[in-house]
Amino acid sequence: MSLWATDGLHRILIKLRLLGSLMQPIIDFLMPARTGKAVVVNKGEVLRIIEEEGKQVADVIIFNADDHKEKFDLSHTVRMNCVKGIGNLKKVKELYSQPSRSNIMFIVIEDKVGVHGLVTGNKCSKPLYRVRDKLSTHDNCQDNLSEAIRPYGLTADDVGDVFNVFMNLDVDDRNIPIIKSPVSKKGDYIAMKAEMNCLVAISACPGDTQPTNDYLPKSLRIQVLQ
Ligand SMILES: [Zn+2]
Repeated sequence: MSLWATDGLHRILIKLRLLGSLMQPIIDFLMPARTGKAVVVNKGEVLRIIEEEGKQVADVIIFNADDHKEKFDLSHTVRMNCVKGIGNLKKVKELYSQPSRSNIMFIVIEDKVGVHGLVTGNKCSKPLYRVRDKLSTHDNCQDNLSEAIRPYGLTADDVGDVFNVFMNLDVDDRNIPIIKSPVSKKGDYIAMKAEMNCLVAISACPGDTQPTNDYLPKSLRIQVLQ
């Protein structure tokens, strides 16, 4: 919370310094490995998630910043992109809220990777590590995202399906999803323009028992450009 209390001032200072420039970062920070954070991206601004080191997944959830009942819906997003011929189970162009609203929350304007996890929308969690890896506890995306949205009055129950940015997920010949190492390299990024005021929570996935992050959780760089 304390980091973000200075967010408004930080935005103003950077804005003043960059006055006159086009699409410059108004927020720019390094997200340490295994951690999460939330950021507000206002309509017209661009969120950029950057591979600071490479082969690191970012689990992302999105809410309408002005009405948290409206949130990113993964399955609706995949379906809408597929029927419009602008996406598949690896990449999408438009990120939608749930069908009761069906508004475009973000438009992907640049995608240097084009391989993301859109098959299940799952994020790692304590129950997953317990059942799959026999670990009684482990840092995880569910808790990172829960903690990130808590200052905004949201709880662990508000963490729904995620956009697994940079995740390399396939389905094997038994129709079971399998995790592969990301194809993303250092410096690769995805840039998405906000179509409404959005609250975005991001987790640098702490997974180290599977190829999710090539067995080594790493940092990500997060930028908001205006
Ligand atoms: Zn994770």
